[in-house]
Amino acid sequence: MALVNEHFLKLPGNYLFSDIAKRVNSFKVTHPRQQVISLGIGDVTQPLPPACIEAMHRAVDDMADARTFRGYGPEQGYDFLIEAILKHDFQPRGISLSPSEVFISDGAKSDTGNIGELLRWDNSMGITDPVYPVYVDSNIMCGRSGTLDDSGKWSNVTYLPATEANGFVPDIPDHRVDLLYLCYPNNPTGTTLTHEQLKRWVDYALANDTLIVFDAAYEAYITEPDVPHSIYEIRGAKKVAIEIRSFSKTAGFTGVRCGYTVIPKEVTAADIEGRRIPLNPLWNRRQCTKFNGTSYITQRGAEAVYSPEGQAQVRATIDYYMANARLLREGLSAMDLTVYGGVNAPYIWLKAPGGATSWRLFDRLLYEAGVVTTPGVGFGPSGEGYVRLTAFGRREDCEEALHRIRTCL
Ligand SMILES: *Cc1c(COP(=O)(O)O)cnc(C)c1O
Repeated sequence: MALVNEHFLKLPGNYLFSDIAKRVNSFKVTHPRQQVISLGIGDVTQPLPPACIEAMHRAVDDMADARTFRGYGPEQGYDFLIEAILKHDFQPRGISLSPSEVFISDGAKSDTGNIGELLRWDNSMGITDPVYPVYVDSNIMCGRSGTLDDSGKWSNVTYLPATEANGFVPDIPDHRVDLLYLCYPNNPTGTTLTHEQLKRWVDYALANDTLIVFDAAYEAYITEPDVPHSIYEIRGAKKVAIEIRSFSKTAGFTGVRCGYTVIPKEVTAADIEGRRIPLNPLWNRRQCTKFNGTSYITQRGAEAVYSPEGQAQVRATIDYYMANARLLREGLSAMDLTVYGGVNAPYIWLKAPGGATSWRLFDRLLYEAGVVTTPGVGFGPSGEGYVRLTAFGRREDCEEALHRIRTCL
């Protein structure tokens, strides 16, 4: 008899998106003529940059000829892509990394979810709240999160609330945690940290021997100069931080699948005798055993993101989304609503007027404006009282959504 991993049974069902779908469907049944606008999903809508499409077409042709055909590639990724990443994402910011410190992946979700395999199940962990649900859920699966209490919190997780009161900059905890997840610019609040604020977290990690997993999936959306694009811009971070990036939001690769993880050689964790074990070779071993590399065609597409044409095209699409973000942010503010985010991230964090709950505002926007959002409480207890709007839609839809919200709220 095979015994199940009972930790999976503790996972709360993914009620959030199925609940949203159910409510939207019943609305559509009762309001067949109302056109529903979705500002809910965190997925891009614009096509891939032409430079990536052309590169992938050429890569397909490579596969058609025995002389240029590629079979299994390096599990860590092709040098051509790793070199382009180092040259464009890190060297211009004064960050020097070696190619063996970068691991190409099939996206940031896999790596944020799998990285915990390198650590024992009984480490303590901290997460900012609200946040991308993968961090907690992947730790529940291996038993690291503990048990769920009545307030919707896990016993072995330190929640670091990001609220209006602290300007969405969580306070440094008064105790140590072994493992800390940071996501900046943040999904779902759309807020971020300055150099000085991120430095406090790196200093905390150095002082407390904490390992930071830094999710920089929205790095390309940063517009303000004082916001770090990489955690390695902070002195000492190479000792304590793993950084995870993605081409999904940067270049529209949500359906193509490519990202990368940086594990500097200096990053270590302790064994039970206190000896320091570098994590880079462990992750290398993990990838070589469980991952056979991202496809050659995909990696050629990602490489093209860094060509001059690719850079210009990626910038144009991000500018389009960020113009949506600005439209939504300014439009909602002009209605005397309280909004955050939308400056360095494609997300708007809308506070429910009159102290309403997330779901109450969600229903109101759906029923009175035909606009779908995401209830903030689905991202963690401190998300209660907010909804998230995404800027990934079409301009006309953002304009129409604003027009309708103006007449109802
Ligand atoms: C979208 C998203 C990801 C997932 O990226 P993929 O590379 O598509 O797996 C990771 N982290 C955050 C915070 C995200 O919002």
